[in-house]
Amino acid sequence: MARNRRRAAWKYWGYLPFAGALLGWLNPEVGTGVILVLAAISMFYFFFQVPRPCQAWNRREQGRCRNNASGLLRGCHFQEHKWQNLSMLLNYRRWRELGASLWASWKTALPALANVATIATGVSAALVFFIAQPK
Ligand SMILES: [Zn+2]
Repeated sequence: MARNRRRAAWKYWGYLPFAGALLGWLNPEVGTGVILVLAAISMFYFFFQVPRPCQAWNRREQGRCRNNASGLLRGCHFQEHKWQNLSMLLNYRRWRELGASLWASWKTALPALANVATIATGVSAALVFFIAQPK
């Protein structure tokens, strides 16, 4: 029981580097290189590992798939759902649909938002790191 609970908490480990990257901005001791690495790690986590409902459209039944999935880009165990979000991301005509699927519940909206924040953090850390590096 305790082990299961610990494993369940472990699934959310990616929020740690995310928080670390954000807090890194507040602490001048933390270099932008560190923030960059933390942001890259949590970006990877949100894309491929974060627990969330699948949300892919079901073909036969009405509504969206409610299976557990991991990662914003990956769906559940159904082959059809597996890369549905990724293929939507690659096809700009379907971005509205992808947005709708990400906003369908807070369980997906939260990691999506955190991922956007991570990307923003990573990009600004990269800019600071490569351009504004103190000499
Ligand atoms: Zn699914």
